[in-house]
Amino acid sequence: MDLTKIEIKTALVRSGIPGVDYAVNPYLGCGHGCLYCYASFMTRYSRRHAGARWGTFVEAKGNIAGVLRSELARKRKRGTVLLSSVCDPYQPAEVRFRLTRQCLEALREAGWGFDILTRSPLVTRDVDLLAPAGGVSVGLTIPTDDDGVRKILEPNAPSIAGRIAALKKLHEAGVDTWAFIGPMLPMNPERLYEALRPFVNRVLIDALHYRSKVADLFERLNWGYALSDSYALETERELRRLFGEKAESV
Ligand code: SF4
Repeated sequence: MDLTKIEIKTALVRSGIPGVDYAVNPYLGCGHGCLYCYASFMTRYSRRHAGARWGTFVEAKGNIAGVLRSELARKRKRGTVLLSSVCDPYQPAEVRFRLTRQCLEALREAGWGFDILTRSPLVTRDVDLLAPAGGVSVGLTIPTDDDGVRKILEPNAPSIAGRIAALKKLHEAGVDTWAFIGPMLPMNPERLYEALRPFVNRVLIDALHYRSKVADLFERLNWGYALSDSYALETERELRRLFGEKAESV
């Protein structure tokens, strides 16, 4: 992994995601290596790594917290912030650089709320900044109950059990917790529901997009059924039935 530090000029980026005013992405690139990753288009925003294979580099935005502080000080109105909309804010590089933590500190100092979305239990390191805090929520992406599926499709990302343990810890600390069940990978919805139910206030469900990235692999593994629209519809329907009012779809 080519890990470099860069300087940026803008931290808060206007977001088109419903309910989110701004996104903050402390890293460009991601070490989690999900095979279905949608974010490879981000290489076009890298001067150093234009054309590089996605997953082989991470650029850490070393000055992001200072830039964010200045931007927050200039805003007349508070908004909602998502960390992160593209690259995982608690990917392995965060252990060394702590940029996500620094951004959370800046947001808390300015009295802004934020939503976090990650695949990593490293988020629990920052529980002191997350609970109890109004306007703060933490989502863990949990696209299957099956860690065998996770090992194949998200080879460098933390285990499903580790993510659920993180949700438990945060939930018990009083954090508003949720799970992003997306993309819906091969799974047992009932088992996923049983594992998540005690520790989440809601779940957000999404289908597998960019299916061509994993189509050959899915066919080889006899998971071809999970590429179909009917799998997405039936699994979503079943998850919505199980989670009831806690479930929303993207
Ligand atoms: S965690 Fe997100 S950004 Fe990182 S490889 Fe996986 S899908 Fe891509």
